[in-house]
Amino acid sequence: MNRFEGKTAVITGGNSGIGLATAIRLKKEGARVVIVGRDPKTLAAEASAHGFVAIQADVGKVADIERMYAEIAAKVGRIDVLFANAGVYRSAPLADTTEEFFDDIVDINLKGLYFTVQKALPHLNDGGAIVLNSSTVNTKGWPGIGIYSATKAAVRSLARTFAAELLPRKIRVNAVSPGATFTPIFGRLGLSEAELNATAEALLKTVPIGRFATADDIAAGVAYLASDDAAYVLGAELTIDGGIGQI
Ligand code: NAP
Repeated sequence: MNRFEGKTAVITGGNSGIGLATAIRLKKEGARVVIVGRDPKTLAAEASAHGFVAIQADVGKVADIERMYAEIAAKVGRIDVLFANAGVYRSAPLADTTEEFFDDIVDINLKGLYFTVQKALPHLNDGGAIVLNSSTVNTKGWPGIGIYSATKAAVRSLARTFAAELLPRKIRVNAVSPGATFTPIFGRLGLSEAELNATAEALLKTVPIGRFATADDIAAGVAYLASDDAAYVLGAELTIDGGIGQI
C-alpha cells in the first residue's frame, strides 16, 4: 500500500514507542515524515535510521510548538497528516498528588496536545487528517491514574470538537485509544525490574486478548484513520485495546 505517497506527516513523540512505529509505517507507505520529541539522541538516531526529518521541541511549552512549526514550514513545507501523540504516563493516588505532578501531566497530555493542533492550523492542507492519541482508560476509573485518565478523556472529547470546527476545511479529526501497549513508557516510571514485572503481570490480567499490544498494532489503526480509507470517519474513537474497554 502507498496511501501516503506525496504527503507530509508530522508525528509528535515520533522518536519512541507508538509514535515511532507510526512514523515507520507512514514512511513505508510513501509519506515524508517529521518526528518531534525532546530527546536529541533518539531524535537523531531514528532520523538517520529511517530518513525522517527530526525537530526537537517540548510540546508542554507553546513557544516551543510555535518554533517547531516554523522549522517544519522551512524544512518540509505544508502538512497533510498530524499525529498528536506525545504524552507521559505517571501515577499517584488523589491523596498524594502535588500541584507540580498535576501540572506536569496536564501541560503535556492536554495543553500540549491542544496547542499542537491549534498551532498546526495555518500549516495544514485542507483535506488533511489529524489523529489524537487518547487511551482506553478514558472510560476507566482505575485507582492511581486519575489525572492521566482525565487528560485522555479530554483528548477524546477534543476529537469531537476539533472535527466539528475543522469540517469547513475538510480536515478530519479522530482519536485512537490504545490499551496496554509494550513501549518504553513503562520504563520511564522509575520502578525496579521486580516492580515493573509485578505491574505488568497485574495489568496483563485485565487484557481479555491475553497479550499486550505492540506499538505496530496501534500504528496500523493510526495509519487507517489518517488515510483515505477512513474518508467517512469523523470525530470518532478507534479503540485498540485487546478488549479491555469492551469485555
Ligand atoms: P513512549 O515510548 O514513552 O513515547 C512517548 C513519546 O512522547 C516520546 O517520543 C517522548 O519524547 C514524547 N514526549 C513526551 N513528552 C513530551 C514533550 N513534553 N514534548 C515532546 N515530546 C514529548 O510512550 P508511548 O507508549 O509510545 O506513548 C505515546 C502516546 O500513547 C502517549 O500519549 C500515551 O499516553 C499514549 N498511550 C500509551 C499507552 C501504552 O500502554 N503504552 C496506552 C494508551 C495510550 P522524548 O522521549 O523525547 O521525551
